Amino acid sequence: MDTPAAFLEEAAALLGPRGLTQDPDLVEPWLTDWRGRYHGAALALASPASTDEVAALVKLCARHGVAIVPQGGNSGMSGGATPDESGSQLLLSLRRMNSLRRLDVAGRQAVCDAGFILENLHNAAEAQGLRFPLTLGGKGSATIGGLISTNAGGTQVIRHGSMRALVLGIEAVLADGTVFDALTPLKKDNRGFDLKQLLIGSEGTLGIVTAATLRLVPAVADRIVVWAGMPDLHIARALLLHCEDIAGDSLEGFEVLQATSLRAVLDHLPDARAPLQGEHAWHVLIEVVAERDEADSLQDRVEAMIASAFDAGLIEDAVLSANESQARAFWLLRDSIAPAERAKGAAVQHDVSVPVEKMPAFVHHAVPLVEAEFPGVHALAFGHLGDGNVHFHVLAPAGISQRDYDSDLGARVSARVHDLVTEWGGSISAEHGIGRSKRAELERLGDPVSLAMMRQVKRALDPAGILNPGKLLTLAPDRANA
Ligand SMILES: Cc1cc2nc3c(=O)[nH]c(=O)nc-3n(C[C@H](O)[C@H](O)[C@H](O)COP(=O)(O)OP(=O)(O)OC[C@H]3O[C@@H](n4cnc5c(N)ncnc54)[C@H](O)[C@@H]3O)c2cc1C
Repeated sequence: MDTPAAFLEEAAALLGPRGLTQDPDLVEPWLTDWRGRYHGAALALASPASTDEVAALVKLCARHGVAIVPQGGNSGMSGGATPDESGSQLLLSLRRMNSLRRLDVAGRQAVCDAGFILENLHNAAEAQGLRFPLTLGGKGSATIGGLISTNAGGTQVIRHGSMRALVLGIEAVLADGTVFDALTPLKKDNRGFDLKQLLIGSEGTLGIVTAATLRLVPAVADRIVVWAGMPDLHIARALLLHCEDIAGDSLEGFEVLQATSLRAVLDHLPDARAPLQGEHAWHVLIEVVAERDEADSLQDRVEAMIASAFDAGLIEDAVLSANESQARAFWLLRDSIAPAERAKGAAVQHDVSVPVEKMPAFVHHAVPLVEAEFPGVHALAFGHLGDGNVHFHVLAPAGISQRDYDSDLGARVSARVHDLVTEWGGSISAEHGIGRSKRAELERLGDPVSLAMMRQVKRALDPAGILNPGKLLTLAPDRANA
């Protein structure tokens, strides 16, 4: 018996028919990444039902030298959950492990399996007067394990931080099949390294997350979403500081977009209307929340905040959501930028951050520079100004297919954008991770000391290189997954 056959026989005995399949109809849908850029092949699709099964399966993989690609909802943006084209890697789906193990209302914590879907966590928390304060467009598919492994962000990071700030405990299976059980949250614990933090953002290269304890916060009693127009991104930054000063902890979202993005969204959503009359070069969406009913109403406080912003010359025009459906309509405009822009043609996307205070200057510098150096492209920036993170997308000249753009001009544009971000002291991946799509760029532009430290950690925890090889890091050329 050759190695794959022996491995598959043992894995089938371990997991049973629901836990292991090679049926192309069942495997195929999971072999392409969300953006459609990578298409791989898999030895089989394994769907263990418990942490014990994951541990036994990983031990088996370690014994047979079978590489594992962990996968949650497959909504990741960097190709991290797609196996390579060799057909030798095992796709390990966590989707069958989809229970909410416990929701502790008094302790404001939820313990979830890795395959629990973000939207289900939102609903479960809401039913108990609580909420999990991280949301993103892929919430109907993204799993807790995937969100942890990519250290996902979203639109509430400005107040609550990214996944890293919300994970209180982790259970994970390491490369030799050992279970790392650190689910119990301790507010203070100084017994050396915080090992759970090492797993957060490691994109399946250091361990397979099987469960997590997550922080919940009180549900929102009221929220107001403001849509404001202004001539310049520097003014948007000044408005951000103004809102932070006045709203403090109640400021829950601060998103920016250019007029061209709003136009693309309005073309894309026939029933949508522009929130403001008149032309504004930049638009800002601001969300302010109240977690309990307070003496002065949220409405009064937000109206005062916006009035003083007008007086300070920070806003050309603004409108406050009159009710929840209008608040949702404003967010829909924001959340539709990516699909609206995709409908317009080929583009290369960059998820970049620079220090918050530098972001307006960076955008004002980078947009005209990229458009001048690559005639015919159109650059735009939108997103989480409050986190110093924008999605910097560069649309191809008309008539170029995505494939052609990616293979030449788009690749040169991306390299230029990443060079600029690096020169400005920023990150080429603020939210979406490195995966496969940015691995070479991380290698090219990453700090050599940081890369060397990451390799040392990888070698220590996964010496045979069986966990998600080819993603995030390359090991030295003589190593298994170089
Ligand atoms: C419309 C849309 C909007 C989005 N908006 C945002 C946004 O605003 N901010 C943001 O940060 N992301 C965003 N994303 C990206 C995506 O939702 C996140 O990256 C999410 O964390 C991926 O979760 P997943 O379960 O789908 O993981 P997958 O795509 O399945 O996997 C992602 C990575 O994690 C690894 N992995 C998955 N599960 C595990 C596990 N249990 N243990 C170890 N490794 C694992 C995979 O190997 C892969 O490397 C968006 C996606 C979509 C489709």
